[in-house]
Amino acid sequence: MDLLEYQGKQLFATYGIPVSPGEAVTTVDDAVAAAERLGYPVVVKAQVHVGGRGKAGGVKLASDAAEARTHAGNILGLDIKGHVVRTVWIEKESDIAAEYYASFTLDRSAKKYLGMLSSQGGVEIEQVAAESPEAISRIHIDPVEGLSEDACRGWVEAAGLAPEATGGAVEILMKLYRAYTEGDADLVEINPLILTPEGRVHALDAKVSLDDNAVFRHPDYEQYDATQPRDEREQAAHDKGLQYVGLDGTVGIIANGAGLAMSTVDIVSQVGGAPANFLDIGGGANAEVMAGALEVINNDPLVRSIFINIFGGITKGEEVANGIVQALGRVSISSPIVIRLDGTNAEEGRAILEPHLSDALRMQPTMIDAARTAVELAGGR
Ligand code: GDP
Ligand code: MN
Repeated sequence: MDLLEYQGKQLFATYGIPVSPGEAVTTVDDAVAAAERLGYPVVVKAQVHVGGRGKAGGVKLASDAAEARTHAGNILGLDIKGHVVRTVWIEKESDIAAEYYASFTLDRSAKKYLGMLSSQGGVEIEQVAAESPEAISRIHIDPVEGLSEDACRGWVEAAGLAPEATGGAVEILMKLYRAYTEGDADLVEINPLILTPEGRVHALDAKVSLDDNAVFRHPDYEQYDATQPRDEREQAAHDKGLQYVGLDGTVGIIANGAGLAMSTVDIVSQVGGAPANFLDIGGGANAEVMAGALEVINNDPLVRSIFINIFGGITKGEEVANGIVQALGRVSISSPIVIRLDGTNAEEGRAILEPHLSDALRMQPTMIDAARTAVELAGGR
């Protein structure tokens, strides 16, 4: 789950990382009012789940109310790489002597955390990594041992920041490491981490990605749910507790288990079709879950056929079949359905489905046959 900049900054602030005061607003009038309260100059910043906002015209300095009004008006509604700006963050402007880069993430191959620090911040780190990899100072951190202040200082000294930034940088990085670990983040990034002309070090941007599997440990993270970017289909599926990812094809897919759902997406593509989605209904395939899944797919205007691919494991074939039959009684589906049912008690399950078969509800013995039929019914790619 990715946070917006202002949410990341608020999270940083709870760990004592210095950030600029600011306010998140959704209208031009509120933006001007916030700017008046903060005092000029301010920065008007687009809040979207994508980087490179500055280059896209989503970060503007305003030195009076008229400028604040103009910039907020231009930025609200702006489309940045397909993300429409609904919220702007108005923050007190900072003077910049130097822009640095700092982040913590997980290096899976090293089985350690990886800290990256660079004196060349502000620009995209991928560019720095490509053009001058030596400008990035790295530290691998054993998750059990953690990050000591001495190790942190050595890392900072190797990065070639201005000498007066060292103390402030060490302090912030120790706090950022706490935010990363205690906050159960997958990524924390500050770009730019700035040095002010007065010698203070300070986070001017915040990129935070939280581990969805750890949200139960942080009840306050629930507040971020509302601002997650989801298309309508994904929102509907999320509300029903389904594991769904929207794609742009015409074959709707329902499978039990993430692995099978992924294979189903693959096989539909392999036989020349285009999957409309990934949807994993999980282990149980009762009528309610099946009906919910069918509803979500049926509401997708691009869908032309639906492929239900179930492999019975702990959930027996007849339970799945009964679930499908009951679900079909509850929702009226506008696209033809193809079912492949295999695994535990598949025979019993198929016998239950048999009397319900028609042009609108077909059954195929194998996954590839079912995929071919579904793709054919969708009219190919
Ligand atoms: P991004 O483009 O999405 O990464 O957005 P940032 O928050 O990193 O802002 C982009 C750039 O705008 C920064 O690298 C700074 O150069 C500039 N910027 C942002 N805030 C301020 C500020 O308070 N003062 C000044 N002088 N520049 C700022
Ligand atoms: Mn940035």
